Amino acid sequence: MAQVSELLRVGSGVDLASIDPASTPGLPEGKQVRRDPKGWARAELAQLGTRLAQRQEMLYACAKKDRTEARRVLLVLQAMDCGGKDGTVRRVAGTMNPQGLHIVGFGPPTPKELQHDFLWRVRHALPEAGYVGIFNRSHYEDVLVARVRDLVPPKTWRARYDKINAFEQELVGSGCALVKVMLHISYAEQRRRLLERLRDPTKFWKYNPEDVDNRAYWDAYQRAYGDAIARCGTGHAPWYVVPADRKWYRDWAVAHLVLDALNGLELTYPPPDFDPETEIKRLEGDGSG
Ligand code: AMP
Ligand code: MG
Repeated sequence: MAQVSELLRVGSGVDLASIDPASTPGLPEGKQVRRDPKGWARAELAQLGTRLAQRQEMLYACAKKDRTEARRVLLVLQAMDCGGKDGTVRRVAGTMNPQGLHIVGFGPPTPKELQHDFLWRVRHALPEAGYVGIFNRSHYEDVLVARVRDLVPPKTWRARYDKINAFEQELVGSGCALVKVMLHISYAEQRRRLLERLRDPTKFWKYNPEDVDNRAYWDAYQRAYGDAIARCGTGHAPWYVVPADRKWYRDWAVAHLVLDALNGLELTYPPPDFDPETEIKRLEGDGSG
């Protein structure tokens, strides 16, 4: 368990080009896994999901019972277009109780958002105590697309790494476990997925002609990702790079990372603020049995 996150955690020396998007770090050896890795990972995801849901319920229960409870989790998902963010939300968050989830997707900033600092909309989207939050894209777009597509001058995006680090340090300090994940796909896999969208009318809504324009900037994006991960992968808020060409591996790995974060909170169900025995006696004595 801990092993998967250790294998996927990257530091300031990260070299994305050296991480094979089709690789499966931490996948156990063994005949059964080798014979049908996808089937194995899907079955395992269901089991991880049961544990995720249980921990999530404990987290929710703690906040429900204790107003001073501050603990929460935030999963930050970043990826190139077609990197699998939506699928990861569906498959991994889908194992948990929707009532305890806080899922927010970030698109281009609105005129109102542009009037504020880049972290303004992010602060407003944070999960409350007891919740598992998921960001589908995040404040990292402000050092990715903003940098690669020249949306702001270099001195503006360069100053953002430190701002992000300060913001995340404050966030973690306030009780939010942060899991930052880059879903790492290959250039060829992106092409395959874009073609799939174009050949399936039920997927047209996901297609954006700009995604093809963006392919011309692939290398610049990879550099921007590398820098963001190197500069903002800190001890309290590390980055994980999840090879994501294989969807079944991606979901299995991300479920592990979120479960690790929940386990790190050392949750228990809150103790009762009443005496169960007394309450049982009251019910037994109410004459309706
Ligand atoms: P999608 O994830 O397919 O819904 O697309 C969302 C789009 O919003 C992507 O093209 C992102 O690059 C863009 N986006 C998200 N955040 C920002 C940002 N801070 N600045 C500019 N574009 C952004
Ligand atoms: Mg898109």
